[in-house]
Amino acid sequence: MKILAATRNPGKLRELKSLLAELPIEIVTLDDIPGMPEVIEDGETFEENAAKKASELARESGLIALAEDSGLEVGALDGAPGVYSARYAGESRSHSANNRKLLSELKNVPKGKRTARFVCVAAVASPEKILFTARGVCDGLILEKPRGESGFGYDPLFFYPPKNQTFAEMGTEEKNKVSHRAKALADVKVEFEKILKSNDEIFS
Ligand code: IMP
Repeated sequence: MKILAATRNPGKLRELKSLLAELPIEIVTLDDIPGMPEVIEDGETFEENAAKKASELARESGLIALAEDSGLEVGALDGAPGVYSARYAGESRSHSANNRKLLSELKNVPKGKRTARFVCVAAVASPEKILFTARGVCDGLILEKPRGESGFGYDPLFFYPPKNQTFAEMGTEEKNKVSHRAKALADVKVEFEKILKSNDEIFS
C-alpha cells in the first residue's frame, strides 16, 4: 500500500516513518508528487482541517493520504490559540513572536492556572472518503519564561510534569515518545493494521 503523507517537513516525515516502520506500506510525500495543491486550513477544529487536507490530497493524487493538524490549547485562554497556533501573532508564523504573545496573554495568570495541552489530529482518506481519524493529547503547563533549545514552536514554554522538563529540554527523541503527535500516530498504526488485515482476508 502506498501512502501520501501530507507534509514537506523532514522531522515529521522521520517520525512518521519510524512509527509506521513495521507496516508493509510505502510512504511518499508532497515533494515526491508534483502539482499537489496547497490546501487552505480554514476549519474551526483540528478534525476539520486534517480531514479537509487528507481528502483533497487523496482525490488529487489518487492515493491514500495521511494529514495532520495540531496546536496548543490553553485553559486560561478558553482553548486559544487552538487551530490558530501557527499564526497566533500574525501571518508571519514566527515561533518566537507566537511565544511572546502567549506570555503576554498569560501575564496575570498565576502558576497553578497555566494549564495547557497539545492536540494532534491525524486523518486518513482514500480518493472516495475519510477512512479514519485519530486524536492525541499531551497535558502540561505554560511556564513564565522559555527553557531549552530543542524542538520548535511552543516547546520552550510547554512544561511536561512527568519529566519535570519542557519539551525543548527533553530533546526530540524523548518528546516523540510522549507527544500528542506520537499518540495520534500510534492510533493511526493500529487503524492501518486493521485495514491491511481485512485486505488480506478479502484477497486470500
Ligand atoms: P501544524 O499542525 O504543523 O500546522 O502546527 C500548528 C502549530 O501548532 C505549529 O506551528 C506550532 O506553533 C504548534 N505546535 C504543534 N505541535 C507542536 C509541538 O509539538 N511543539 C510545539 N508547537 C507545536
